[in-house]
Amino acid sequence: MKPVSEIFSLLPEQKNIVITFHQKPDADAMGSALGLYNFLIQFNEKVTVISPTNWAGFLSWMPGAKKVLDFEIQNEKALKALSEAAWLFCLDFNVLSRTKNMEPVIQKLDCIKILIDHHQQPQTEFFDYGISDTSKSSTAEMVFDFIINSGHAEKINLDVSECLYAGVMTDTGSFRFNSTSADVHRMVAKLKEQGLDHSKVHENLFDNFMEGRFRFFGNTLLNRMEIFYEYNTALIAIPQKDLIKYNVKTGDTEGLVNFPLSIKGIKLAAVIIDRGDERKSSFRSKGGFDVNTFARKYFNGGGHFNAAGGRNSESLDEVVAKFKKAMRENKEQLNN
Ligand code: 5GP
Ligand code: MN
Repeated sequence: MKPVSEIFSLLPEQKNIVITFHQKPDADAMGSALGLYNFLIQFNEKVTVISPTNWAGFLSWMPGAKKVLDFEIQNEKALKALSEAAWLFCLDFNVLSRTKNMEPVIQKLDCIKILIDHHQQPQTEFFDYGISDTSKSSTAEMVFDFIINSGHAEKINLDVSECLYAGVMTDTGSFRFNSTSADVHRMVAKLKEQGLDHSKVHENLFDNFMEGRFRFFGNTLLNRMEIFYEYNTALIAIPQKDLIKYNVKTGDTEGLVNFPLSIKGIKLAAVIIDRGDERKSSFRSKGGFDVNTFARKYFNGGGHFNAAGGRNSESLDEVVAKFKKAMRENKEQLNN
């Protein structure tokens, strides 16, 4: 993977650019992609953003979101854009399997592939150019650096600013996590100078939910949460019937895993959801417990040191049993 700076001089003329990110995008995936999109279309209109799957309703306000193709629903259009692509930007994921059904298509493309990502152990051999930096707060911050380093700071308009702010704000837990460096605050200062209304972005992301989500959270915290004080661990396991009963939509479960992490003493919080086609897990930790390694070892996943996820094909009961066994095996690290 060659340094991403080598493509800077080509930016003004480059046509047929596709941008993609991980399935079920969060605000960093969608925000970094649309931030880059709103930057690139100032040189050339032929830029397409493709999401491997659908996305949460609270991301649809982002400038450019209406033009994003859903690979599963607008498959023909997406395949056409991919077949014509000269460049493919892959944002906010480390392994190609995170693009779900797009993976086999991407594997076969012979265009130039560019990675911009902050997850651990990326598949760098697949990419022609790129930047992987696990110290970065968010992919949105990396897209901001990309734009500044390319010498086009003047193209950071309000559309770019709103998208990048959404990514950096959510991936830092509203500027709370360790990854919130002085550079992050300098980036936000620059976005504010461009006229960014950060309260509006915050409201768009966090004050747009349906009532059902909160009833679902209430039921979940009351009936589906187990605390293992001996292991400083909390587990939430959600059967599919709950998702149906409370009409839970894509994105509604985001943030749930942070609740048990606020309980005094809890160092590891896990949410395992039966999504029907697979059991999806989210892990968060505080301090020295490495959930990236944990998710890789037991749950076919990965992510960051303090935030990771995985997926399993076994039943919910089996994945829960697996979790409890893994927790016991890690007792010492959980008690450090
Ligand atoms: P979340 O729990 O919010 O879905 O994900 C937390 C972090 O773990 C994110 O950085 C995400 O990219 C990563 N992650 C979540 N699920 C998976 C997975 O199935 N595989 C891998 N490799 N990473 C995941
Ligand atoms: Mn991210």
